[in-house]
Amino acid sequence: MSESFDFDLLTLGAGSAGVAASRRAAAHGAKVGIVEASRVGGTCVIRGCVPKKLLMYAAQYGDALREAAEYGWDLAGAAPRFEMARWAARKAAEIDRLEGAYRQWLAHAGVTLIEGRAQVVGPHTVQVGPRTLRARRLLIATGATPVRDSIPGIAACPTSDELLDLHELPSDATVIGAGYIALEFASILARLGVRVRLVHRADLPLRGFDQDLRQRVATALDQAGIERLAGQGVKAVHGEPGRWVVELADGRRLAARYVLNATGRRPNTAGLGLETLGIVLRANGAVPVDERLQTSATEVYAIGDVTDRLNLTPVAIAQGRALADALFGPTHRFPDLSMVATAVFTLPPVGTIGLTEDAMRQRRRPYRVYEADFRPMRHAFFGGAERCYMSNPGRSYGRL
Ligand code: FAD
Repeated sequence: MSESFDFDLLTLGAGSAGVAASRRAAAHGAKVGIVEASRVGGTCVIRGCVPKKLLMYAAQYGDALREAAEYGWDLAGAAPRFEMARWAARKAAEIDRLEGAYRQWLAHAGVTLIEGRAQVVGPHTVQVGPRTLRARRLLIATGATPVRDSIPGIAACPTSDELLDLHELPSDATVIGAGYIALEFASILARLGVRVRLVHRADLPLRGFDQDLRQRVATALDQAGIERLAGQGVKAVHGEPGRWVVELADGRRLAARYVLNATGRRPNTAGLGLETLGIVLRANGAVPVDERLQTSATEVYAIGDVTDRLNLTPVAIAQGRALADALFGPTHRFPDLSMVATAVFTLPPVGTIGLTEDAMRQRRRPYRVYEADFRPMRHAFFGGAERCYMSNPGRSYGRL
């Protein structure tokens, strides 16, 4: 390492991607620093997958309690009631524990943690508060953040970040969006007793997913008692916490105590200073990278949500480890993003991998869809409506 560098690798952002890359690089003997502006662990651990799954488990207990009586449990006398404040206290303790574990992992790996907001100020050079840090290689892993300007007035509404910090549930909620975050929270809130309305522009939620799945997810949301306003744009949101009015494109005005802005996420590159390196960002702020995760600037790499390719934790981690191996270790293999399994934690949940039927059709080759749709034994037992669906749009075996 040249004398003028503080680090072989300086990672900006200690989320799933940055922590994975930094630990692996340090394990290969590199001198690594990592800068974090907020809490160590990033979106997944602090305000994403982990707290969301913990809230989903809470919702599943509600289902289990309701079903238990059907299975012979005598719950008379018990008056189960979900108390968000109790969940919130436990959740906060668990997130503290996990953040502590992430900090320890970094320390044990010999990675130097620098707390503060990073700004790239020139080649190999990053400013964090009063400190100027120089590194041979820079790794941009600053993740993404909820879009707060998608609709006039929506900036004042909570996003998933704020929802996961609630101490009390609202009596009703209007969820705006049709991606997995919108559906998961709509599904969870409905199970926890909130009256949920879901407003989305397309006919079906989950754009990009297989049509059969989209249809069945929509049915499951309807069965959960969620009022779904499909094919509806939102023109504006007015009001204040507890007293919102959602103005639809067709002119209707809907009152809501709580409005969840689930209209998308945007890469965290505003004010990061990447233009000083000549990097031209995409329109939504994403950092373009090649198949080796290199940006257009030499010795500057980007991984995870900030590249806006497949915004999932396992992808971020796999990219981080692969990049560290390629830069400091013996292997040069990068993750193939064409076959990544995805889950949507609605209730029931969805899991999918590979091509959709639409994509198969566009290939103009014969194909068959193998599918099974049935009511699982667990629900059939008490006449429940929940169904299980499996399908595999696959290559055709034999003649069609
Ligand atoms: P992040 O985890 O966002 O980390 C980036 C870090 O950079 C942050 O800690 C941030 O504070 C820091 N940072 C930003 N700017 C700066 C700066 N200038 N200086 C220093 N630090 C900075 N994925 C799944 O695979 N499964 C799920 O079930 C799932 N559920 C999700 C649920 C929700 C509600 C959300 C919001 C996301 C979910 N995701 C899920 C997506 C997953 O969280 C992300 O794909 C993953 O966290 C991306 O990791 P990352 O390291 O790229 O970014």
